[in-house]
Amino acid sequence: MKSGQDVVLVAGGAGFIGSHLCRALLERGAEVICIDNLQTARDANLRTLEGERAFTFLRADIVDPLPDAILRRRDIGRIYNLACAASPPQYQVDPEHTMLTNVVGTDRLLRLAEQTGARFLLTSTSEVYGDPEAHPQREEYRGWVNCTGPRACYDEGKRAAEAMAFDFARLGRADVRVARLFNTYGPNMHPDDGRVVSNLLCQALTGADITIFGDGSQTRSFCYVSDMVDGLIRLMESDMRDLLPVNLGNPEEYTILQLAERIIAEVGAGGQLVHQPLPQDDPRRRRPDISRAQTVLGWEPRVPLAEGLKHTCLYFAQQMKDLRSSADHKRTSALFPHIAPALAAE
Ligand code: UDP
Repeated sequence: MKSGQDVVLVAGGAGFIGSHLCRALLERGAEVICIDNLQTARDANLRTLEGERAFTFLRADIVDPLPDAILRRRDIGRIYNLACAASPPQYQVDPEHTMLTNVVGTDRLLRLAEQTGARFLLTSTSEVYGDPEAHPQREEYRGWVNCTGPRACYDEGKRAAEAMAFDFARLGRADVRVARLFNTYGPNMHPDDGRVVSNLLCQALTGADITIFGDGSQTRSFCYVSDMVDGLIRLMESDMRDLLPVNLGNPEEYTILQLAERIIAEVGAGGQLVHQPLPQDDPRRRRPDISRAQTVLGWEPRVPLAEGLKHTCLYFAQQMKDLRSSADHKRTSALFPHIAPALAAE
């Protein structure tokens, strides 16, 4: 007989972090139900999970009413909400949908938590701090977000989702946890996701130009995906009595130029650095203060950037090898619109 927490719903479970989370939960003996609209997820991520007996996939968008197959279940013990495109170029494709995913979608999942008694974890974001004036960012910092800019659909959507989650908790309607995820990277990222680690690695691997937005002096702190998943599970299972968000991220901070140097060194080759305009409202600096996660969860990242980049580089190199040998140029162009010309030229 399963206990409640053994049945876990993962919204966005076919995505980059979601697919690793589903795998980790299966390894812990949970039954995992994954819902995903496959907007930014990869089939390949799902294929690695679908062979598992305790894994069920339902294609659904949390903006729509949840599928009956989920609403009928009364045994769900944990709900993780990772459902939302997280890369700026991806979440800006349909900003209304991004906002609704965070507001309407989170509301639907919170109501499900209320009905089933499941514990609910929201994956919020360092983007709630906007372009921060405080550095490093502690959870108490209230952020500097441009609510009318092109990132607002995501930033403000997540801020609204946090507000709603904490209201459900205050009103005793659901037991909630809120994680604020900082930049995360690793295998299962979509090669054409648009974020800096996947872009630069794929560019270096194909000899394409390395795109540096702005002068490259802006900073980010990169957390390897296995550390992030460990933090998420610890937070979900923690006995937090206070209604507090928790930063999860790696506090080692790099400029984008330093990251590019590391990537070029890892790949051992690479094209020219090419500067492109800095996107509007691009945060200048970002580094998490993780004291709360250290104290409350006993968590801190273990995988250094050099090691994480090595694994991620091997993953993308394998993806490209598979694509080249498949000689399926249509698929290549769909997956790698920016780097397809370089692949075709080889
Ligand atoms: N960036 C870059 N080249 C790229 C993609 C991104 O220089 O090909 C920069 C981007 O402007 C930002 C940082 O890298 O300053 C991180 O961008 P990303 O989209 O990965 O995530 P963000 O932290 O901005 O959400």
